[in-house]
Amino acid sequence: MKKRIGVKLGVTFAVLVSFLFAAPTQHYQVEAAKSKTEKTVKIKRTANKKVTVKVKKYVDGDTTRFKLKNGKIVTAKYLLIKAPELKKENPYAQEAKDRTKEILKNAEKIQIEYDKGAKRDSKKRELVYVWADGKLVQETLANEGLAVARSTKGKNTKYLDKIKKAEEKAKEQSRNIWAIENYAQAGKGYNQTAADEYKKAQAEVRAAKKAEAERLKKEQEAKEAEEKRAAEQAEAARKAEEKRLAEEAEAAKKAEEERIAQEAAAQQAAAAQAQAEAEAQAQQQAQAAEAAQGQTVYVTPTGSKYHTHKCGNGTYTPATLEEAQNRGLTACAKCY
Ligand SMILES: [Zn+2]
Repeated sequence: MKKRIGVKLGVTFAVLVSFLFAAPTQHYQVEAAKSKTEKTVKIKRTANKKVTVKVKKYVDGDTTRFKLKNGKIVTAKYLLIKAPELKKENPYAQEAKDRTKEILKNAEKIQIEYDKGAKRDSKKRELVYVWADGKLVQETLANEGLAVARSTKGKNTKYLDKIKKAEEKAKEQSRNIWAIENYAQAGKGYNQTAADEYKKAQAEVRAAKKAEAERLKKEQEAKEAEEKRAAEQAEAARKAEEKRLAEEAEAAKKAEEERIAQEAAAQQAAAAQAQAEAEAQAQQQAQAAEAAQGQTVYVTPTGSKYHTHKCGNGTYTPATLEEAQNRGLTACAKCY
């Protein structure tokens, strides 16, 4: 039993390894086989029979590439409608493409159906009705004003009335393509002159909008610059005022200090002067006292003067000046 499992594992491993190394070649072989299949596989184009398909590529409003069940990829042109020209960037061409894409993306089941007439057009595109979850996409597009109905000369007319009715409704309500004057032509196609005029007008509107937006932007920028400049100016003024006030305060402070210092100096000087005066006076007094003490004058017993010598008749006796002054005598006018 164990041995068998071992053998089985060995074989599996060998097979895996061979696949691993053979992979590139195998890949090309598969691709080659595929393209061969695509060329050789025949498509049954049966009228009135719905065939389930998958989307390969969204081309435009009325063209889609589908993948059939057998792997074949086909380009389908939607029967009986014409969506605006995407290559010419005609009005609502992009909208039509987007809408078709939306319808098919949201559909769980997509089917194509051939009619009794021509199955392919001159470009070998399949001429089909396209169904999304049981609803005819051609009818939806015509109803929403994203495609006009297109009558054919042949036998592909199965849903023409249905689509024309939808187109009529869209036209009545001026939906999308029908909102542009002379653009959509019921049952036919589109007037290129009207499309070009519309595009030109749209471009002009866009240019005007752009210019207006630019103007507003410039205006806003100028406003912001002005606001910034004003703010800077205000800030500078505020700073200058602050500086001025600080300088003023500093100057006042200095002046006050100077005043105080001057006052103090004046007081000091006055005090010094008073002291000097007092000192001088004291010295004078001392000198006078000293002088009075040492000096000899002559006095008479009854006279009110003192003299430097016996300056008249009478009895003069010597005395110190101090004594004479103490007695209340004053200097003789003749002697002094
Ligand atoms: Zn005298």
